[in-house]
Parts: sequence; structure tokens; C-alpha cells
Amino acid sequence: MKVIDVHTHTWSREIISHKDLEARRIAAERVGADPVLDSTIDALRKAMLTSGVERAVVLPIDSGFHQEMPLTLSEKTDWHANEVAGDKNIITFVGLDPRRGEEGLRELERAIKDKGCRGWKMYPPNGFYPDSEEFDPYYRLCIDLDIPVLIHQGFTPRFKHVKYARPVYVDRVASDFPDLRIILAHVGVPWQDEVLMVASKNPNVSVDVSGWQVFASTVPMKVYQMIGDAKILRIFPKRVLFGSDFPLFEYTMSLKKWVDFFTGLQLPTELVDQGYNQIRQDEIERVMWKNAAHIIFGESS
Ligand SMILES: [Zn+2]
Repeated sequence: MKVIDVHTHTWSREIISHKDLEARRIAAERVGADPVLDSTIDALRKAMLTSGVERAVVLPIDSGFHQEMPLTLSEKTDWHANEVAGDKNIITFVGLDPRRGEEGLRELERAIKDKGCRGWKMYPPNGFYPDSEEFDPYYRLCIDLDIPVLIHQGFTPRFKHVKYARPVYVDRVASDFPDLRIILAHVGVPWQDEVLMVASKNPNVSVDVSGWQVFASTVPMKVYQMIGDAKILRIFPKRVLFGSDFPLFEYTMSLKKWVDFFTGLQLPTELVDQGYNQIRQDEIERVMWKNAAHIIFGESS
């Protein structure tokens, strides 16, 4: 089965802030794993190869609005753009804090038009609510540039503020900009019901399943239940995208195992007996490839 991973990260300790590095150390310590202080594109390529992932989307995060950063915003955009330049299977979004105003708008346009970035990664836990009206010019520009915006939702590392990652703060944007393609990361865990509510009323909203390896490797019933709910609400299969958050969850489940888990996904009989509809192979194929090919890569479905 062909696979696109819509949620991956690359960085080096030279390009992220000391605080973000420290947050990585804290997160690793909490789960008893080694901290991943660098995530090279070669490691991503290798994991893709062993996992049968043909395409991947890299999602840079802009923490430079409120933190000292080693690189300026455009240097960071260029770092990521250069990294994937010439690779036909890996694309990058541009990480951008919309509080940057006019400067940020110019950078968004430059990243897409001149540097080949293919979408906007928004990271509200850095300190803003996505539905603030001052950001509307960004949403209009995304529509003009015909690019999707992927928004971090739910669980958030140390030093960031989780209140900004609530799905309900995307609803006003989704309903006021029906032509804007929005992807809500991690199905907003632990607010998956709130994400599914926002997605069910706004057909322009999709979700990515990255991060759910935590449950797949421990209590997979939580994954089955979430997918079953998404199917009842008609978000699954057309608006669910496969993603991993590589390399952040390798400690609990390798990319290969996560791909295997999802390509073989079947609801257990106890859920089907309760009234959930069993999922089909053609629906899984949409989640693993077709939806992302359509929503992110702009290919016809
Ligand atoms: Zn992520």
C-alpha cells in the first residue's frame, strides 16, 4: 500500500532555541527515552525506506516570535527549503507565527513562491489563538496561494501553553474561510471529540493521526474508538490523514510498526457489536495516500 506521512520533523540543535532543546530533554526524561536532539533528513529518508513510506511532509515550527533563535525566520525557512530541494518525495511547509504581521505575510509568500514550500505549519501553543481576527489576512493569503494550513492541536511540550491548542479556537476560522484547507494535527488528543466536532461541521477541515502511536502501542482500543467515531461522523475516511510526528514517537513505536498498525487497521468485534461500522481496505488506502495526495499535494482524487 502506498503511504504518505503528512507529519514529520527535521531539525538540528544548531537551528532551534535552547528552551526548545531543553523541552526535548524533559519530554524524553519523562518517558525514560534518550532525547532526540537532532533529527536529520537522512534519518527520515532511512525510516521512510524501511517503513514503505513513499512521501513525507516536514513541518518546521517558528518559535522566534518570543524566543532567542540561532537563525532569523527567513534563514530558517531557507534551511528547511534547501534540505528538501531536489527531493521529489519530501516536501516542507513553512513554520510561521502569525503575530509577525506584515513581515510574516511577506515571508509566507516568499516561502511558497520562491522557496517551494507547500503549506503553512501553525503552532498556537507558542502563545496565540488561531481565531484572532488580526490573522485573517494570513488565511486569505493561504487561499490565494492555494496552500493548506496544518495546525498543532492538543498535547504540547513544556514551556508552551496548551490552552491555545484547543480545537474550538479553529472553528471560527474554518467556518468563515470555507475555501481554506485546514488540517488539525494529532486529532487534537486528548480533545479528539472537540476536533471531530469542528471537522464534522466544517468540510474544509481534515485531521492527522500522528502521535496516536502512544495508544497503539499500549491501549489500541483508544485508536479504534477514535477512528470508529470519526467514521460515524463522516470524517473518516475522506478527511483522515496518516502521520507519525517522526521522530518524536519512535521511542514507543517505530515508523514501520505504526505504518503496519494503520494499514492493517480493523475494528475489534466488540466495537462492531456495539454499532460501529467496520472499516474497509479501500478506506484505509484513502487515509494512507489518496487524501494527502489530494489535500496537500493537490493531485486529483
Ligand atoms: Zn509535530
